[in-house]
Amino acid sequence: MREGSFDVIIIGAGISGLVTGCYLTQAGLKVLLIEQRKEVGGYCRSFVLKNNLRFDACVHSLASCRGGGTLGEIINDLNLKKFLIITETAIPNIIIFGEKKIRFYRDLGKTIDEFIRSFPGEEANIISFFQFVSNSDPLLFARLRNKTFCEFLDGLFKDKSLKRIIERIILISTGVLPEDLSAFIGCSTFKEYVLDSGYYPIGGMQSFSDALAKIVVSTGGVIKCGDKVEEIVLREGRVAGVLLKNGVFLKSPRVVSSGDVYQTFVNLIRNCKVNKYWKSKINCMIPSMSAICVYLSVEREIEKDIDFQSTLYFLNNSISRDSEESIQDHKRSSFLVSCPSLLDKTISNSSRIPVLALTNAFFKSRDFWSFNKKFFVTEIINILKSGYPEFFKTVSCCGVATPQILYNWTLNYRGAAYGWAGIPSQLGDADLKIKNDIKGLYLSGHWITKAHGIISAAYSGKRAAKQILKDC
Ligand SMILES: Cc1cc2nc3c(=O)[nH]c(=O)nc-3n(C[C@H](O)[C@H](O)[C@H](O)COP(=O)(O)OP(=O)(O)OC[C@H]3O[C@@H](n4cnc5c(N)ncnc54)[C@H](O)[C@@H]3O)c2cc1C
Repeated sequence: MREGSFDVIIIGAGISGLVTGCYLTQAGLKVLLIEQRKEVGGYCRSFVLKNNLRFDACVHSLASCRGGGTLGEIINDLNLKKFLIITETAIPNIIIFGEKKIRFYRDLGKTIDEFIRSFPGEEANIISFFQFVSNSDPLLFARLRNKTFCEFLDGLFKDKSLKRIIERIILISTGVLPEDLSAFIGCSTFKEYVLDSGYYPIGGMQSFSDALAKIVVSTGGVIKCGDKVEEIVLREGRVAGVLLKNGVFLKSPRVVSSGDVYQTFVNLIRNCKVNKYWKSKINCMIPSMSAICVYLSVEREIEKDIDFQSTLYFLNNSISRDSEESIQDHKRSSFLVSCPSLLDKTISNSSRIPVLALTNAFFKSRDFWSFNKKFFVTEIINILKSGYPEFFKTVSCCGVATPQILYNWTLNYRGAAYGWAGIPSQLGDADLKIKNDIKGLYLSGHWITKAHGIISAAYSGKRAAKQILKDC
């Protein structure tokens, strides 16, 4: 590692930290990224398990990569395609709801027709819904910030099955119950993560994070993996640098924390007044749910069914609204399945291929999960076997990541998948912004964004970099 002082130190090499690093090094600043894990990416990474199969740990699909899309613009700005190939499918998502199978095509008109075929009595409402969510004026969504997603859907549709389908996809994609979720977040998630998803980086999600890391390093930045920041050191009320777990002090007048704000303000900053303020503030805030990820292997036969090139949403077909209890009761949960080998031939060279199944889960004790995770896995496998008996008859489970494990991987507060819950009372919090009262401290990542996921994490990283460049 290059010793000495840095213009900017970034804590965390998840997508937000990496994007901040790319913009800053490209502008000529001397930047150091410090990541507690051995590899970059945070939730956006891949690993190899049994039989040399490569699994995506959490993130399974990129979204908003269209020309002019938020992530598409960042990919272009950073010239990321120099180090990365992104492939895409014509049918990003397929919903399986009881006997119904509904496809989301990249062609919006075909998706609308598909919904109308399944719910002919709702034709006019389906057209208004899709026209509204696919609009390009963000102000239209902003007007919905104080309404819940349920209120919004109740005002539009009569058919309960149709409402549950839309609610359940958005629940998996936001980690917030629809009766709590802001309609603003629900609609923007539908627009970006449902209608414009299905992009996959060849080499798996790790290759997306690695490509960002290559930009940082090729433009003079330094990335130090396997070191945890223990303290953001303040002198005379402003940032002076960071202290690592091994006792090394690294000097910088600017530090970007891309980890969660609980860690930043309660653990990393040694100032009682700041700690006390944030502890009591965060006690009253609600994080998004965590998730449980099941890593399965199946025979390559599955590739004969072209549906597996899409993300498959196996939705609970009960028409009652999901509640905390129905999510805790794994027998009634909905989950998604991603099988990227149809899009990426580099994923496995054996007769078996990896399949990721995941769903929302609450953060509970280690004991709870060591007892309960087997029920989740059995339930998910049974549903897959009953839907596709020919492909899942020889399925085997290679591993499970519980909310506790997600926490260990990223240090996200309560293993939250998407930062703070996108509920009306938590949108636009005055404290959750890039700059704050501590001079030289900047925040980025999904804990300070209104929306969430890779798009927002990357966008917050870009904005943090722009702010620093303005202040330098
Ligand atoms: C199961 C699951 C599936 C998901 N699927 C998708 C999807 O398909 N598409 C999508 O867009 N989004 C998805 N998301 C959400 C998405 O992963 C996150 O919103 C996004 O990755 C957040 O990026 P980030 O950079 O803000 O934070 P993180 O990815 O959490 O990165 C923070 C990094 O900081 C490091 N760090 C923290 N503290 C320290 C410290 N003190 N010292 C050193 N390093 C530190 C952590 O190790 C971590 O690498 C999913 C999330 C989960 C959990």
